[in-house]
Amino acid sequence: MSAHKIIVAIDGFSSCGKSTLAKELATKLGYNYIDSGAMYRAITLYFLRNRVDFADSMQVLDAIANIHLSFAFNERDQRSDIHLNDEDVEPYIRDMIVSEKVSEVAAIREVRAFAVAQQKRMGRKKGIVMDGRDIGTTVFPDAELKIFMTAEPEVRVMRRFKEMYAANPHINIDEVRDNLELRDYIDSNREESPLRKADDAILLDNSNMTRDGQLGLVIGWVLERTASQLTPNA
Ligand code: C5P
Repeated sequence: MSAHKIIVAIDGFSSCGKSTLAKELATKLGYNYIDSGAMYRAITLYFLRNRVDFADSMQVLDAIANIHLSFAFNERDQRSDIHLNDEDVEPYIRDMIVSEKVSEVAAIREVRAFAVAQQKRMGRKKGIVMDGRDIGTTVFPDAELKIFMTAEPEVRVMRRFKEMYAANPHINIDEVRDNLELRDYIDSNREESPLRKADDAILLDNSNMTRDGQLGLVIGWVLERTASQLTPNA
């Protein structure tokens, strides 16, 4: 779409549709899409499988030293799947057992340092859309376009419920609601890079927007930013 590539940072609460927007935007722009939440989920999966005691920094550091995360493009689903030590763990990372622990793991200083360093490296060449909780504040504080997404709580609960129901019809809506509330609370109140809107981020409440309407709006913002990059002294 444009030869001049930028970084698009998308943050926000759980289940606002960040990854749906980020993925569609990246496809339209020919950019890479990185789901930073998938990295924290894969690390959590490793910790659970290996019974790592989250409260023990030595165990956490040892575990991190044995973790290698990468993304591989999946042609069939047209998305980048996360690999944990060369295993495609995409089928497991959205299970409730991981969702219940991920915010606790993501609040650990050593875990964040490890994930953020890798995320920063992925943005070196720009042309990237990354979504998460601290992308505009910590990972890419100089991103050309920052978006902070939100939606009404019940809209978010229904979205997540439908998504999880497709994989597990035994899922209970109260369980989904409790998990979203808990994650948002932990993510917003942790010491290390808590979830908050960067001062220069655009607030996007998509409670009453269609997917296409939202995408069109954001593409307009990208075009504005790429145009201003090309204009001297803009
Ligand atoms: O985006 P998703 O809901 O899959 O993220 C799972 C969890 O990972 C979040 O609830 C949050 O605790 C953590 N996370 C984070 N920082 C990011 C992305 C995700 O702390 N940049």
